[in-house]
Amino acid sequence: MRPLGHLLLASALSCAAWSPTALAGGVTASRVEYVMGTMLEVQVHAADSLWAAAALNTAFAEVHRLDSLLSNYREDSEISRMIRHAPGPVPVNETTFTFVKRTVEFAALTGGAFDPTVGAVVALWGFDSGNYRIPDQAVLQDAVGRAGYKHIHLDTAAQTIALEPGVRFDPGASGKGFALARAGAKLRAMGVSEFYFDFGGQVYREGTDTVGIAIRDPRFDSVSVSEVFFTTGSVATSGDYERYFERNGKRYAHIIDPRSGFPVADRYAVSVYAEDPWIADALSTALFVLGPNAGSELLACFPGVGALYIERSGEATRVERDSLWQRLEIQ
Ligand code: AMP
Ligand code: MG
Repeated sequence: MRPLGHLLLASALSCAAWSPTALAGGVTASRVEYVMGTMLEVQVHAADSLWAAAALNTAFAEVHRLDSLLSNYREDSEISRMIRHAPGPVPVNETTFTFVKRTVEFAALTGGAFDPTVGAVVALWGFDSGNYRIPDQAVLQDAVGRAGYKHIHLDTAAQTIALEPGVRFDPGASGKGFALARAGAKLRAMGVSEFYFDFGGQVYREGTDTVGIAIRDPRFDSVSVSEVFFTTGSVATSGDYERYFERNGKRYAHIIDPRSGFPVADRYAVSVYAEDPWIADALSTALFVLGPNAGSELLACFPGVGALYIERSGEATRVERDSLWQRLEIQ
């Protein structure tokens, strides 16, 4: 078996070396823009500079289109319209419907640890505005009681969404991953199969060579705690250092446990590798809430997905990884 496997590998390598792209050389082009509240860098490898420029335009146009549909910071987005016109039902675009449907199905799978209706609770802590505060307990518990993915009603035939009054849909935990998946699909459809995205720290790339992606230490961004190697796929990280405030020496960060309405404590960061960038993004948030024990049950539903947890135990840091993440760490 061994020599055969070796031969297959060798022939695969020589095929890649003689592929038309390699023969023609091709060009790499990149661009950075601010979209969805963060920086998006896109690199593409295409046959010539005109095609590369067209590919970049296509990728950015798709992400801007999704932002205009899904943003909860834009009054004119479909998500904002859905919230404003509750209890609806509100007719929406196919893309918006697919996104909301997926987040609801994923929320159910996580038992509500991931919940896109957490928006009102996020706002009470000021994580949407930067106007941070510890909310009044009665008000917080009222918002927790009104939230819940079961208060989103989808009608597939009519392509409408109805939110129960008071429900604020928050796309923040998986909108960027969804945009990456859609933009990647657009590139593939135009024959561009080598690309790299860095969307506010979430990496998504496809290609033939292996890249190494370093995971930063949650407290020292110039130090890396792990590095994973892959040719195709995405790594997303949810961290307590992205949006947070401190009161009396305690840190309150932007990822909420929807069951209590409180920011998750005792966890610095969770990184997820998945082939699909939407899965990586949604899972990193869900696993941040669940932690390694409950998280391993959820991960069992996603073959080929790896996770790294950076846990706080007292003043110390404990790093845990599942077996797939461990394999990805080997170059
Ligand atoms: P991420 O950085 O991808 O983990 O997304 C975090 C963002 O998702 C937060 O800033 C909130 O807007 C939103 N969020 C917070 N907690 C949750 C949760 N438990 N489920 C879904 N979305 C959440
Ligand atoms: Mg996420």
